[in-house]
Amino acid sequence: MLRGLGRLVNPRVAAPIAPPMPLDDALALDASALALSRLLIGRDNVARESALRSYLGRRGIAFGRPRFESAEGRGENLWVEVGSGARVLVLCAHHDAVPGSPGANDNAAAVGILLDLLPRLPAIVPAGGRVRLLFTAAEELDYLGARQYVAAQSLDGIAGVLSLELCGIGDTIVLWDVAAESAFLQRATGALERLGLRREEGYQVVARIPVFGSDHRAFAAAGFPAYGFSLVPIAHADALRQFVMSPVRSTFRALVRRPPPFDTYHTSRDGFDTLQPAALTRAAQALAAIIAGLE
Ligand SMILES: [Zn+2]
Repeated sequence: MLRGLGRLVNPRVAAPIAPPMPLDDALALDASALALSRLLIGRDNVARESALRSYLGRRGIAFGRPRFESAEGRGENLWVEVGSGARVLVLCAHHDAVPGSPGANDNAAAVGILLDLLPRLPAIVPAGGRVRLLFTAAEELDYLGARQYVAAQSLDGIAGVLSLELCGIGDTIVLWDVAAESAFLQRATGALERLGLRREEGYQVVARIPVFGSDHRAFAAAGFPAYGFSLVPIAHADALRQFVMSPVRSTFRALVRRPPPFDTYHTSRDGFDTLQPAALTRAAQALAAIIAGLE
C-alpha cells in the first residue's frame, strides 16, 4: 500500500474493469503463476479470500485460517506450511485489493506465484528449514491482517520474512525496506547471486521507503528481518527511485504521470493483460533459490 495515496484512483485513467474468470474455471486452474493470478483478479475482497480458501480446500491442502475482527476491519489470514526444520521463512502475499482495482499486479500475481510454487516446495525446502506461505487479508488497511497475525500467532523460529508486492511487471528484483544488514539478507542476496543475478543489475537492495509499505513491516516492528520483495523495470529505475523516495513530489506526480509499475497501481487498469509472464517466472525462480538457501 502507498500511504496517503491508497484510496486515490485517478479518474483520468479510469477504465472499465474486465469481469473476473468464472469461479469454477479459476478453481480448476493448475498451470502457471500467471494463470493462477486469475483466481483473484477482478473479484471483490470477500470473493478473493473465499476463492483462495476454496482453491486450497479443493486440492486437499491443509491450511490455517485465523480470522480477525477489529474496529479497523476483518478478514482471514490463510497460511500453509511446508517442511519441518527449525528455521522458518515467511513469504507473505496479501489477497485483498483496493476497491475499484482488479488487483492484478497488486497483488494477485504474488498470490499466483506462491500457489504455483507450493506443490514444488517439498523438493526445495532444505531439511533444516520450513516455509510458511502467508496470504494476508486487509493489507490495504495499513497491513491490518499482518499486524493481527503478528499480534496473535506463533512467531517461533522465524529467520526472515519477505512480503511479495508488485511481482508481475518488470525484470529486476528489488528487496526493499532494508534498514540494516542481516544474516537473512546475506543469505537471500547470496542465493540471488548464485542464480547469476548481479546487484544493481539483476537485483537491487533498497533502504526504507517513506511512502510505500507492505506486510513485512508488521514483522519488522516485532524485530524480525523482514523486507519487501518486488519486481520493477530496470529501464525506469531512476524515475522509480525518485517516485518512492519523495513523498510530497509523489503525491503530485500521482495525478500526472507515474513510472511503471505505478502507472497502473491502485487503478482500474491493474488488470490481467498488464502482467508480464517473464516477471512472474523470475520472481518464482528467485524465491525458489532463496528457499533452497535457507539451510
Ligand atoms: Zn499491495
